[in-house]
Amino acid sequence: MTKPIVDLSDCILCGICEDVCAEVFRLNSAGYIEVAELSDYSQNCISDAIKNCPAKCISQETP
Ligand code: SF4
Repeated sequence: MTKPIVDLSDCILCGICEDVCAEVFRLNSAGYIEVAELSDYSQNCISDAIKNCPAKCISQETP
């Protein structure tokens, strides 16, 4: 799986992605959601974050 992308212009900083998938999504010190640099993005929690994001601003391309 590819790295998920957060469209920061739509993100409302609700923190749900961080709650369901803290190993991938985190709020950085600048106040934006940041996607961790990982060698593998196959975690199930990424799809949970995509499903539960109220702004529908997380996307992930399948290779
Ligand atoms: S769940 Fe969506 S709207 Fe909420 S903080 Fe994460 S990316 Fe932003």
